[in-house]
Amino acid sequence: MPSNPLLHFITKLINIEDIKVVNYDFITDDEIVIEIQNQSKVSQCPHCGKTTNKTHQNHWYMVRDIPMSDYQVILKVNRRQLKCTECQKVFSEKLSFVKTRRTYTKRLAMKVIKEVLETDVESAARRNRMTPSEIETILKELESDLLKEKPRQIKKLGIDEITQLKGGKNYAAILVDLEARRPIALLEKRNKAVIAEYLSSLGSEILNQIEEVSIDLWIPYKSLIQEMLPNAQVVADRFHVMKHINQELDERRKVRIQVLGY
Ligand SMILES: [Zn+2]
Repeated sequence: MPSNPLLHFITKLINIEDIKVVNYDFITDDEIVIEIQNQSKVSQCPHCGKTTNKTHQNHWYMVRDIPMSDYQVILKVNRRQLKCTECQKVFSEKLSFVKTRRTYTKRLAMKVIKEVLETDVESAARRNRMTPSEIETILKELESDLLKEKPRQIKKLGIDEITQLKGGKNYAAILVDLEARRPIALLEKRNKAVIAEYLSSLGSEILNQIEEVSIDLWIPYKSLIQEMLPNAQVVADRFHVMKHINQELDERRKVRIQVLGY
């Protein structure tokens, strides 16, 4: 077992809320497996709402995370199955950094999406040692997550294009809540009708609150935005959209620098 100060140091580097590193292993010269533990022992039963800490079964699995320095990082995660002491039902605990049944962290998905936006699917795949179809899976899963979690309020909206994927389902546009720095929709086409349909699905209450829209240079859509979002100012600035997503990813780098004392 490695020493405590070292594990503490790696915990700081990994920087995931409530997570403690308990072990690590360099499996190749550029790949590291980091075994982590959830610090929070209790979890809320999704059936009756009661909190419990009664472990029914441990369930270890591997989750890919964003790289550290030149190392590919694989997290060895225990998603415990708990048994509710009230209703006796068994459920899997929720982990803040990875969705159920996903094999990659939320922040890795964000990184991949950012790279797809900046370059294209193939270079994003190469950079993350994934296949283009794995990237497509991330995009598909993001699409279904976003459909389930429609935003309740948006002040600044960003619309950006995505390079088309070869074969399979194509995505053409991504909508981002620039204040929350979160993607809110993936659209398969970026024509006027598709954008209008998505915007109307949000409802006028949300649309009227939007103060600013950043788009890249799709001039034909400016009139549509002005029509549907009466209170929004349109800014034609693609990098504005990217800047917000980058800030989110920079949080972790900042922590690393603090640890190193710079
Ligand atoms: Zn229960």
